[in-house]
Amino acid sequence: MIIDVHVHLHPTEEVGKMVVEMIKEKHGVGYYSYGTPDDYLKDMKAANIDKAVIVSFAPDNQLKNNNFWTVAITRPGKNQSAKYPMFIPFISVSPNMSGRKPVEELEHKLKWGMRGLKIHPVAQEFAPDDKMMWSVYEWLVKHDLPITTHSGVNIDCKSEFGEPKRWINVLDNFPDLKLILAHLGNGFWDQTLEIAEKFPKVMFDTAIAISYINAPTTLDDAEAVDLIRTIGSERIMFGSDYPWVNPAKDIERIKSLDLSEKDKRLILGENALKFLNLNKS
Ligand SMILES: [Zn+2]
Repeated sequence: MIIDVHVHLHPTEEVGKMVVEMIKEKHGVGYYSYGTPDDYLKDMKAANIDKAVIVSFAPDNQLKNNNFWTVAITRPGKNQSAKYPMFIPFISVSPNMSGRKPVEELEHKLKWGMRGLKIHPVAQEFAPDDKMMWSVYEWLVKHDLPITTHSGVNIDCKSEFGEPKRWINVLDNFPDLKLILAHLGNGFWDQTLEIAEKFPKVMFDTAIAISYINAPTTLDDAEAVDLIRTIGSERIMFGSDYPWVNPAKDIERIKSLDLSEKDKRLILGENALKFLNLNKS
């Protein structure tokens, strides 16, 4: 069982090309694909990935539409089965989004089958511990739904909103929040370890931090194994950050680490299956 918990998808090749090219031009970050659902499906088959969590987000004025598209492609139609039942839709909200208030949007998309929330405090420009977000965390705890947050350095710019320590106040107030810190804290390793120790329920994804690509924050083999052993393999989930990364190569890298077969199984899929309640889907 392999589950990729960190996948961005784009509705069309044109949109995908625009997004990845813009980021490449602005930040000098290369990409692997334009990231349409069919592109990813091919990669899923090639890498034996069973399920993927869609954690796309969009600018505030397009967020609502993007959420609608994300849930729509994973939902069965009136007389037809879902086109992409292997995708687990997370939606995104932001305090400044157009069209709906964050909790209203969550309520609305719950009926459409959303399975969790993704936020990117750096790109969406808000502090995760801003009190404006309290009603969102309260709602998630009430519905026992997970939240993935970007954490750590974003592309090439550091931001205080991405620092894992910004979650301490949130977790003190919402100890049952099912939080996934993406990228293992991407560069802020001391803060990652502090959170891991203080809040044993928090989970982490490997995207960029443990990858075949060589980003400034990518860990080498010894560092990756050390971090996994310190936090515990039962708290870490494989995520690729597709379409910037080829998931097959990330899986190969994780399989090559000096870890037990059991540790690798947990990281590559079993932890996600349990934490995200995917057995029923
Ligand atoms: Zn990402």
